[in-house]
Amino acid sequence: MFLRELTMTVDHIKGVGPVAIHALAQGGICSVGDLLSRYPRTWEDRSRNVPLKDFSASPVCTVVRVLAHDWVNFRSGKKTLKVHVEDPSARGVLVCFNRPFMKNQLVVGKYYWLWGTFQYRYGELQSSTFEVEAVPEGALLEPAANPVDHAQSRNFGRILPVYPLSGDLTQSMLRRFVDQALRQYAEPVEDELPRYLMQRNQLLPKSQAIRAIHFPHSMAELAQARKTLIYEELFYLELLVGKRSQERRVVQRNIPSARSVPARSSGDLVPLQQRLLERLPFTVTAGQAEVMIAINQDMDSPVPMARLLQGDVGSGKTLVSFLAVLRAVSLGGQAALMAPTELLARQHAETAARLLEPIGIRSAFLTGNLKASGRSQLLTGLSAGEIDLVVGTHALFSKDVRYKNLRLVVVDEQHRFGVLQRQAIMAKGEHPDLLMMSATPIPRTLALTVFGDLDVSIIRDLPPGRKPVKTHLARESNEGKVYDFVRHELAMGRQAYFVYPLIEADGRRGLKDAESMAARLAQEIFPQYSVALIHSKRDEEEKRQTMEDFRRGAIRILVATSVVEVGVDVPNASCMVIEHAERFGLSALHQLRGRVGRGETQSYCFLVYSDSRPEEDDAEQPGEVLTDEGKTRLKVMLENADGFAIAEEDLKLRGPGHITGTEQSGFLPLGIADPIRDIDVLEQARTDAFALLEADPDLLRSEHQQVTQVLSRTAPFSGIAG
Ligand code: ADP
Ligand code: MG
Repeated sequence: MFLRELTMTVDHIKGVGPVAIHALAQGGICSVGDLLSRYPRTWEDRSRNVPLKDFSASPVCTVVRVLAHDWVNFRSGKKTLKVHVEDPSARGVLVCFNRPFMKNQLVVGKYYWLWGTFQYRYGELQSSTFEVEAVPEGALLEPAANPVDHAQSRNFGRILPVYPLSGDLTQSMLRRFVDQALRQYAEPVEDELPRYLMQRNQLLPKSQAIRAIHFPHSMAELAQARKTLIYEELFYLELLVGKRSQERRVVQRNIPSARSVPARSSGDLVPLQQRLLERLPFTVTAGQAEVMIAINQDMDSPVPMARLLQGDVGSGKTLVSFLAVLRAVSLGGQAALMAPTELLARQHAETAARLLEPIGIRSAFLTGNLKASGRSQLLTGLSAGEIDLVVGTHALFSKDVRYKNLRLVVVDEQHRFGVLQRQAIMAKGEHPDLLMMSATPIPRTLALTVFGDLDVSIIRDLPPGRKPVKTHLARESNEGKVYDFVRHELAMGRQAYFVYPLIEADGRRGLKDAESMAARLAQEIFPQYSVALIHSKRDEEEKRQTMEDFRRGAIRILVATSVVEVGVDVPNASCMVIEHAERFGLSALHQLRGRVGRGETQSYCFLVYSDSRPEEDDAEQPGEVLTDEGKTRLKVMLENADGFAIAEEDLKLRGPGHITGTEQSGFLPLGIADPIRDIDVLEQARTDAFALLEADPDLLRSEHQQVTQVLSRTAPFSGIAG
């Protein structure tokens, strides 16, 4: 039986009752297989003794004797219990915030297993995050030796998994149920990978890997279990990626009539492209020109294009995509340009109308909000081939949308789209060319993993005359100075954005929201200027009107949430004020800052941060509201202008597995593997998978192969190389 075949519901596990069933379901766990493949987030090594004196290197894991209790008064007026303890190496204090009942659990003179993180505070060794368990009488033969060895406990003397939690799930529940499920079901779990690959890569049998990923006997066994599961995941992924790229090459060769252009294209401009360039008030940058040629060559080739275009905010990707559109139209096809927000899609549609209609391109704008009559007319035009370019949101791949001959798909801000959405739009044509664009760089390894043989182009230069945006940090109490500066810019005819983390007040005093601030800015701070508010809850018509008014300067100050993060292009705006900047992620900050500095005037970005805690945040826990990571993010913004450098810092700060923009979009449906961190395993898995496909191109079609069976598991992956 394979792990994924453990579909029996969790109530088959001993000890799982109705309450637990509910809590597990909240965490997305319904079957035994779900439970066993809920991998730990990390592990705590409680198999080794770490005495109190070694507190600085790692959490303490020791046996302590309770010496005394006392109480301290905090400013809030609450009395807090302190328990004084000692082990053979040192003395320490357990600070029991909100846990006065610990007085009865920690009895003076008795021994306890203790796990906790300690720091020196106020001249003593303190811990407020700790776990204790009474050592049973007689269990402790020699407290000074290696006490944890003697543990007869579920939670001590072993390496413990730490699970990601959600809803009502608790660590102890998950630990208990996983432990039990392993006892009942793990042993008969069969291996999935071909035997020779397991041997060559020194992988554990699957049943052992599954047990050891939850409850390893040693750190070495854990490492091997992880490698086994990571390899398996990446192997399936690469098998799929390899299969996709095979298909892309093979299928296309079978329809030669669609592409009757010489095998080797020079990438020269077609007349439509020339006409667009002649009409522009500027010349293309070297970076734009280079990508344009590469795209032209791709589009002339019998193999469909799959190109990722990366270029920092403001580098002029839209123009490049328009040139590709013109190529598609010249080749007799249609193009679709998809953007993640209606705001951005509309802006692209307007730019297309302005730049492309005069040279004869028939363009249209399609979103979910289009009224019925306009919509049906548009759909008729599309299916009849009377529309050359359609710009829109995900509405572009709605069921009823039909294209006569969709030749090119452009996906702007592609990291905002999930795998399935990208695939859905591609399915509207017969192997259309695909151009994906993003200002959020994906490391090359990841691009390769996810897209197989995707080509990557990078625009490294910005249009000439751009002055780098000047970035300033300001503490919240100095916001007045920022407002004065903005007033000065407004007086010179410029415009400004003010961005807030919340749409409306949510009850926490001290946290500003866009709605209240729009009112304040309009009435108190800038009464002489027009102020408007834009956020995701406003209706589309209002948003459209607001953006239009802002673009033509009728509105001077735009108060917003991060909806203005992507794509918005208003060159006369010279100030970006982000309040509570410490609450935004690096990629959002970078994108927001990219909304200014789009013209020739000097622009400014103010990161206003707050280091006082909003009133109703949990005030009992010690610690600052401006975290080290928050500070580092602001510093990174101050020191870096380049999006690629910022993305790299982001990667360092947040660690692998949190590639900007990939988490929410279901970009990589992996459970335990991380293609950046696990790059070595990835490369091996890729080599192995591709070799297997090479040896047997029909592998994925044959009925008897073991691999075919495992591939059924990868069904949810099947859009990946789309
Ligand atoms: P992004 O790459 O962030 O999508 P856009 O395509 O929105 O950037 O371009 C930003 C601005 O730069 C637009 O106003 C566009 O008209 C302008 N632009 C694009 N290419 C050039 C160029 N070669 N020279 C001057 N301005 C340009
Ligand atoms: Mg753009």
